[in-house]
This record gives sequence, C-alpha cells and structure tokens, in this order.
Amino acid sequence: MKAPIATVNTKAILHNVKQIKHLAPNSKVLAIVKANAYGLGLINIYQSLANVVDGFGVARIVEALSIQESGFNGKIILLEGCFDKLELGQALSRQFDVVIHNEKQLEDLEELTKSWQERLDEFSFFKPLNIYFPIMVWLKIDTGMHRLGIEANRITEFVQRLQNCALVKEIGFMSHLSCADEENSIYVQNQIANFQELTANYQGAKTIAASGGILFYENSHYDWIRPGISLYGISPGSKNLSNFGFQQAVTLKSQLIAIRLHKAGEPVGYSRTWIAKQNTKIGVVAIGYGDGYPRNAPSGTPVLVNGRIVPLVGRVSMDMLTVDLGIECTDKIGDPVILWGENLPIEEIANKAGTIGYELLTRLTQRVEFEYL
Ligand SMILES: *Cc1c(COP(=O)(O)O)cnc(C)c1O
Repeated sequence: MKAPIATVNTKAILHNVKQIKHLAPNSKVLAIVKANAYGLGLINIYQSLANVVDGFGVARIVEALSIQESGFNGKIILLEGCFDKLELGQALSRQFDVVIHNEKQLEDLEELTKSWQERLDEFSFFKPLNIYFPIMVWLKIDTGMHRLGIEANRITEFVQRLQNCALVKEIGFMSHLSCADEENSIYVQNQIANFQELTANYQGAKTIAASGGILFYENSHYDWIRPGISLYGISPGSKNLSNFGFQQAVTLKSQLIAIRLHKAGEPVGYSRTWIAKQNTKIGVVAIGYGDGYPRNAPSGTPVLVNGRIVPLVGRVSMDMLTVDLGIECTDKIGDPVILWGENLPIEEIANKAGTIGYELLTRLTQRVEFEYL
C-alpha cells in the first residue's frame, strides 16, 4: 500500500449532493471548490460534480481559469470578485460571474466598460475583436459578517451604477452568514431578515446560504445555495452529519511500520509527553504533520486500527505518530490505519486538535497520494 493515502469517494459526494438538493429543493446549487476544492484536487472534484450542480464558486481567478480550461463552459463565480483591473479584464473575456463587494471593484468595472465602449464607437467600420462580454455581477451586501460587502445604505447607488454598465447583463445579490454552523442562532436569523429586507425590492437572484445555512436555516436557501464542506459529508461545525444522512467522502489512511513492546513507565516520542501506565505495545504509523496530520492532536486522539479505536500517544512527529495498541493486540506491521473517514468522523479529530474539518482537509500536503473512487 502507498502511505499515506487520501481516498475520495465520488459516490459519497454524489450522495451528499442529493441530500443537499433534498434539503433545498428549490435552489440552484453552486458547488464551492475554492482552495483546490478544499485540498482534494480541483479538477477531479469539479469533474465528478459537473453534471449534478449548476455552477462553481472559487476564491481566486486561477481556480476559475483551470476549471474552464479543463473544459467547463458553465457558470463560474469569483466569490471575492477581481483583485484588480487585469483580473477583471480576464473575467470579462472568460465570462466569469464576479462579486462586487467594494467601491474600488465597481470603479474598475465602470472604467473598463467606458474604455470598451469608446473602442467600439471609434471603429465604426472595422469592429476590433470584441474581447469582452457582458457578465453577471453579484452585489455582496454586509448583513452582519462584517468582513466583505457593502453597507445597506449604498445598495441603491451601487445597483444604479451597475445598471449603467453595458458589461453587466444581470445583477444578483449575495451575503454570507457568520455563525450558521450553530443551530437556532438569533444572530443568523437577524442576518437573514436583514438580507430579506434589503433585497426585497430587487428582482435579481439571491444567495446567502453556505453549508450551515443549507443544513440549519431553511429560510436562508433563496435562489442559489453555496455548499462547500457538506459536499464531502463534513459538518461546518463540530458535530458530524451522520444524522442528516450525509456520508464522509474522504478517508485518510496510512499503515503500521513498527510495533514495539513497551514497558510501564517508559515514555514515547519527542519531549516524553506520554508515559505508559502499564506494559503495552506501541504502534508506529507512517503519517505526521509533514503530511498534514495536526501536530497539536493530543494523546487520546482516536485512531482506527483494524476496526477498533486506539488512542494516539505522545507527540505527533513529522513523518510518524504513535498509538497505544494494547498488550493483547494482534496487529501486524503493514496493517492499514485510518486517521479519519467513514468510521472515524473528521470532526472528532478536528475537535481534539482545536480546529475544524476545513483546515484538516486543506492542509494535507503534497506527500499525501490522492485516490478517487
Ligand atoms: C467558502 C464559502 C462557501 C462555502 O462554505 P461551506 O461552509 O464550506 O459550505 C460559500 N460561500 C462563500 C462566499 C464562501 O467563501
């Protein structure tokens, strides 16, 4: 076996898309595949989703370009819009949807529109190659996240200015929820109410829900939902989603490369952070923080060996970690070890390490081989 290896189960992803559509039957699905599809491989993930979703959302223009260059000619949204005029020019020629969340981005769009029109007017006989096409623009409104988005009192002005841009063919409205991973949050309900009120007078498409909104706030679904982490059956919060009928789609595996008899009182690993209370057998697993397993996972973090949970013991090293197999164990060198996945929800590991599933996925390193089922 190659070790370590991350197995991505496409069937589970497609199953999760069905669950998502079941929760939000009237919304179109924008699959969010930013950050190399949450570390899982942008092209592979986009290919398995292309026929079952209505578009893709990314955070960087290079991600949009690579999806389009591998053959996708549907909707791609730049969730943070363009970072400068050069990128906006690319978005206009590639027909990406762009988010506008500040005035600078609007000014860039107005300037490019102006120079584009001047060029078109100037050449009345020989039209220059028309390299820009009208695109859909999503106006991002701050409803309480207080990170990106324009303030409520500027919406009318922005909409008017966008309507005056010949390169804008459609205006949509977007916002983002700050704590939708918590169920029954009043803050989230207030954000949704804000969004509802601020966009009530506009016809354009609306979207506010990422995975948390999809799962826990039915009134947040609107025209488009934007699932990311839930595509992989992973929760946006700390509880796993098995009771929502989702399946964990990513399994991180390695193998035992040593087993040693270990006496009571002996420490294991760097800094002697764990000392055996009784005689036992210590298993050494070929995975460490050099692969993206969190170094701060403490002793006691669950690891799955031959179908049973055993505790991680001692410090996680760069290439290895150690587990307490118990004195009676019959495990052998070469036996597979699961660090997270189907029978060991990634949320449990994330909780132990003081982080979230998102970070564990996106920090898997180059050394991890990916396998797509
Ligand atoms: C990342 C992101 C999402 C997806 O979030 P999940 O919690 O992974 O579903 C949706 N919308 C925006 C704007 C994002 O940045």
